[in-house]
Amino acid sequence: MSTIAVTGSASGIGAATAARLAADGHRVIGIDLRNAEIEADLSDPAGRERAVEGVLDRCDGALDGIVPCAGLAALSDRAGGLLASVNYFGTVELLTALRPALAAGTTPSAVVISSNSTTIQPDIPMDLVELCLAGDEAGARARADEVGSFPTYPATKIALARWVRRSAVGDGWIGAGIRLNAIAPGMIETALIEEGRADPMMAPMLAAFPIPVGRGGRAEEMAALIAFLLGPESTFFCGSIVFADGGSDALLRPDDWPAPWQLPNSVRFRGP
Ligand code: NAD
Repeated sequence: MSTIAVTGSASGIGAATAARLAADGHRVIGIDLRNAEIEADLSDPAGRERAVEGVLDRCDGALDGIVPCAGLAALSDRAGGLLASVNYFGTVELLTALRPALAAGTTPSAVVISSNSTTIQPDIPMDLVELCLAGDEAGARARADEVGSFPTYPATKIALARWVRRSAVGDGWIGAGIRLNAIAPGMIETALIEEGRADPMMAPMLAAFPIPVGRGGRAEEMAALIAFLLGPESTFFCGSIVFADGGSDALLRPDDWPAPWQLPNSVRFRGP
């Protein structure tokens, strides 16, 4: 039995993940605003601290896995700054603070929730991505409030994907035996999407959203992927961003990935 912390455990992907992991025999420590073992507001540094202390108290200093699912979607009346704080800083600060406990766990693994909005939503404010990655929460909040929640959402998810890829390969993560990966879900039928359907700005975009599989995803499908990435059959995954989006990204950006690496002429490899 492993001990695994799941944020956003009260709803959607987090709830399905918590249920799947519990059914697989693991001890799950759920964290959410309410209806969770640890009730904490991850938009706020004091809430993050309470969440970290709560997890450390319950896991005896050794954590085997973490899945930070807590997140907010863009809505017309939702401030961008709140998204920056919950989606990016609420995820990265928890991962960073719990990293030593993960290093003390058994075959530890962390699975972050990015999004396919990272590749299919145009005109993402990359300066906001950089403010997140620089750890400047006040600056990121100010810029996110300026641009609004619609472009902020994919900016926070690109920042998460880059943070995962930069961190995963370093001494603190794989060097300490901790696998760090992310999933990039497409449209998954959860409360987050229901909120969007009731929003005048988001509803038309969601209605037009192309999904080759022909339906939105199920939270249980994401939970199965997360369980795989936490488990013993995915031990060669390190810094991967795994898209699971019913084909939306492949439909809209077929030739953009894999992105080839262009070396400068001076160091260009010449085959035999
Ligand atoms: P959801 O709304 O069903 O669940 C999100 C959970 O996060 C809720 O239980 C909510 O209470 C919690 N949460 C929100 N703000 C919080 C805060 N300040 N402190 C603590 N908990 C907080 O949404 P979901 O669809 O399950 O989303 C889970 C994750 O998946 C999010 O990070 C989201 O961005 C990501 N995602 C979702 C989709 C989708 O289509 N549903 C697609 C890509 C990525």
